[in-house]
Amino acid sequence: MLAALDPPPLLPSPLQEIHDERFAGRGIRLLLKRDDLIHPRVPGNKWRKLVPNLRAAVEGGHTALLTFGGAYSNHLRATAAAGRMLGLATVGVVRGDELARRPLNPSLARCAADGMALRFVSRSDYRRRRDPDFAERVLGGSAATRTAREAFRIPEGGSNSLAVHGCTALGEELRGRTDVAAVACGTGGTLAGLAAGLGPGQRALGVPVLRGGFLAGDIRELQRRTFGGPRGTWRLDERFHFGGYARSDPQLEEFARDFERRHSLPPLERIYVAKLLFALTTLADEGAFAPGSTVTAVVTGPR
Ligand SMILES: *Cc1c(COP(=O)(O)O)cnc(C)c1O
Repeated sequence: MLAALDPPPLLPSPLQEIHDERFAGRGIRLLLKRDDLIHPRVPGNKWRKLVPNLRAAVEGGHTALLTFGGAYSNHLRATAAAGRMLGLATVGVVRGDELARRPLNPSLARCAADGMALRFVSRSDYRRRRDPDFAERVLGGSAATRTAREAFRIPEGGSNSLAVHGCTALGEELRGRTDVAAVACGTGGTLAGLAAGLGPGQRALGVPVLRGGFLAGDIRELQRRTFGGPRGTWRLDERFHFGGYARSDPQLEEFARDFERRHSLPPLERIYVAKLLFALTTLADEGAFAPGSTVTAVVTGPR
């Protein structure tokens, strides 16, 4: 099955040392875990989360994938691309029926170009997405509904137990390499798996990009469903959402541009990765990391 996802993935992903005075000046080594380089069309944590789901879908004899996301969802885009490569139909349920009356943004246009059937639903209907009869009730009597009924269902952001298991490999690749492994969080599925995969004495740090304070509970629940209980050592720092999902401000934008220039990096993904690196730089300045320690930022995707 994986052979269809051409080119082959770059795994384990590269670990890159960065010389940044804001860390080095405090005796901290900064590494980037370049998951953004895993695959051009199914990048970053989306590869780690989706592949076990794709395998289950194919082995279960499904011919379609049904999944859910917001207007800028990297998960929808990766699912559409993977579905196309594997010859699986894809249906993407998008939060916000007002979007149906507007031109597609570049992210959704990419989904459509990969053959994903997009269905825009109101926020109240979107909240019912876990109902077993969601497809019939909300999607109407279209061909997409018939496809969706037979489809392998992947939850919003792709975070189910298969995905959390997939992300343990990220932690395993970092065993013995770092003291802290930091990741930006949407649903928290990546952090749940990362923390479980790390070795003794290593800690995971999550930086939520949404406001709300609900994430720690979600992560505990994901670990309970996946492993039967808590795994690994992790904590969240909830100060760096910049107003919420896909929100930014000039300070964050300037930080990201400067970081790219200083280290000759490709454009940083803005929704997650820029906030993570901003958070780590602030924490280093606050003295949150012991001198002599190594901190690894997981670059969960490309821009
Ligand atoms: C989806 C995504 C995340 C969030 O992952 P979760 O497992 O939902 O926390 C982080 N970074 C990037 C680049 C993403 O695309």
